[in-house]
Amino acid sequence: MARDFQPVSGMETPRFAGIATFMRLPHIRPEEADDVDIGIIGVPWDGGTTNRPGPRHGPRQIRDMSAMTRHKHHVYRFSPFETCNVADLGDTPSNPVDVDDGLRRIETFYKDIVGRGIVPLSAGGDHLVSLPILRAVGEKAPVGMIHFDAHTDLYDGYFEGFKFTHGTPFRRAIEEGVLDPKKTIQIGLRGSAYDFTDREYGEKMGVRLMDMEEAVELGMDGVMQEARALVGDDPTYVSFDIDCIDPAFAPGTGTPEVGGFTTREAQALLRGLRGLNIVGADVVEVSPPFDPSGYTALAGATMMFELLCVMSEAVARRKDA
Ligand code: MN
Ligand code: MN
Repeated sequence: MARDFQPVSGMETPRFAGIATFMRLPHIRPEEADDVDIGIIGVPWDGGTTNRPGPRHGPRQIRDMSAMTRHKHHVYRFSPFETCNVADLGDTPSNPVDVDDGLRRIETFYKDIVGRGIVPLSAGGDHLVSLPILRAVGEKAPVGMIHFDAHTDLYDGYFEGFKFTHGTPFRRAIEEGVLDPKKTIQIGLRGSAYDFTDREYGEKMGVRLMDMEEAVELGMDGVMQEARALVGDDPTYVSFDIDCIDPAFAPGTGTPEVGGFTTREAQALLRGLRGLNIVGADVVEVSPPFDPSGYTALAGATMMFELLCVMSEAVARRKDA
């Protein structure tokens, strides 16, 4: 069945009109999505948030602001929507009052999606949502990860041993064997710390931790050269916490840290992913209540478009192989 997955053009219907979907794509139910190559998915859940909440509202505002996206990337000069079939697969099930059940619902959703051969591009939600996604993407074999964040999210627990928060997902993913720590790089780390047990764990496991200061010294090309060399051609997940960007550009997030990337630097970093074997990606921690202007969500939607372009090429290469 050949279906038309093109976004609605703003040349035909103005971009403020119509029902909001990611990038104005058709909304396809997961059970009818077998001909979708890349599924854009909202995860409206912030049950792992330890401080200022709100990313549960992220997918809706990102959908709204993603209406600003036009079809073609201005540097690559192609449309990811022509490279492969992309659709909005809606939101995952959510449970705002139970962490375990919330995680279980998200994991079940992604296992179904990945089982259908669909590559997920997700909009969080807080960063704990990356854990159930990685459980699906890394189920058969652990994946590598290029992780943009002010924080490692490698803590063991909060509040006297509570193991599932947005400060712990990648420690759990390593322990569960769905994430390969030796193929993981964390870029843009900064900010004051409670202690350094997160970093000590990462270093012990072989994670490459790159502070913001080092990233600035290397320059964006240098950062991505190292990231590319680390993951090689291996299946790689990309996780983009919006708080890697400076709060001057992206204030709508729960744990802002000054001294971050500009949006222009973030775009340059994501363009450095071109050619990699990307098996999934997310943009998380967009918290609309802290930025009613919507510009944080616009930054998130724009980063999702950058990710989609490099993912669409990766999907096309795997199909040709
Ligand atoms: Mn994070
Ligand atoms: Mn963070």
